[in-house]
Amino acid sequence: MIYLDNAATTKVAEDVFAAMKPYFCEQYANPSAIYTFAGKAMKAVDAARKSVAELIGAQANEIYFTAGGSESDNWAVKAAAETYKAKGKHIITSTIEHHAVLHTCQYLEKQGYEVTYVNVDEHGVVKLDELAAAVREDTVLISIMAANNEIGTIQPLKEIGEIARKNGILFHTDAVQAYGHIPLNVDALGIDMLSASGHKMHGPKGIGLLFIRKGVRIGAYMHGGAQERSRRAGTLNTPGIVGMGAAACLAASNLGENMKKVAAIRDYLIRRVLEEIPYSRLNGHPVDRLPGNASFCFRFIEGESLLILLDQKGICASSGSACTSGSLDPSHVLLAIGLPHETAHGSLRLSLSEETTKEEIDFTVEELKKIVERLRSISPLYEDFCRNQEG
Ligand SMILES: *Cc1c(COP(=O)(O)O)cnc(C)c1O
Repeated sequence: MIYLDNAATTKVAEDVFAAMKPYFCEQYANPSAIYTFAGKAMKAVDAARKSVAELIGAQANEIYFTAGGSESDNWAVKAAAETYKAKGKHIITSTIEHHAVLHTCQYLEKQGYEVTYVNVDEHGVVKLDELAAAVREDTVLISIMAANNEIGTIQPLKEIGEIARKNGILFHTDAVQAYGHIPLNVDALGIDMLSASGHKMHGPKGIGLLFIRKGVRIGAYMHGGAQERSRRAGTLNTPGIVGMGAAACLAASNLGENMKKVAAIRDYLIRRVLEEIPYSRLNGHPVDRLPGNASFCFRFIEGESLLILLDQKGICASSGSACTSGSLDPSHVLLAIGLPHETAHGSLRLSLSEETTKEEIDFTVEELKKIVERLRSISPLYEDFCRNQEG
């Protein structure tokens, strides 16, 4: 099997699993309990909180553990809207956000909020002039993702942070794809809230975090016990938290090296595909993109058919977003960068990890070439196109 769907989820690193293991059957105490037995679990949680904070230049007491990226996004956007509604009911986001942000904004629109969806350019970069022009007296939140999950484009966070700060607006970023993969510093980038998820960075599923800058007064999302300084109720997921902490340590210790290594293999993949497969295109920014992301469109074919045939060769890939599979609508991200429906339908996202080898890429490209050729040979669109070329 060749796994090229690391943007959907990643393998738990062996070291991460080893770090988590004692917290299931041995150190299983509720960390909030007062007896000595619980002390070790709470110590491990504290250490993990420090590690996940350090990766983004935050303080440990600015980290709130959640059940994942979707919860963190929901919390940040809904709680900011609710807490600041006396100031205003206007939110700014982009057209290419993950559904965890987009659908949350659509929910708020039904509750009487107004949302401006700022457009992106052909590379998927948020248009800063449009963003600045969208700011109003009653704007309370700007939520723009750090890097896109489908096309890999990294956003100009510093510039976005400056617009937010200058206007006294909270800035939230969905950094689920970026956290642990590229350097992020919440102070340098002017970020007030940041979402991250364990399973996208070799940690376990079902754990995530929301960074909330000290002084930002958004309310709780989950009500109940006094965990997480009364801002996120629920018994702490000790193994998950320890796992995310270990994954953050691992990422921090190899960040520069991993980025270089993964990007080199990705660039080799991109070069081969564009050179050897006609009528193919790269989606997303040519340079400012996640090290592991390669997103393509192949004209005259259906992405779904491509995925099925790749799967028959043992290659795990995606058409873009796990959330859009099964629906016939093309991805909102590919439409937002200006692709026609027809082209957007032929999308393929290959997302690499530190473990992806050149041999795996060579095999994938060879199979991809054959599959694209085969699908085009039975495509009426391609037949029409060839006839027109001749005529
Ligand atoms: C995966 C993902 C999410 C959702 O995270 P979960 O932990 O799976 O809930 C949110 N935003 C982006 C950009 C993602 O890639």
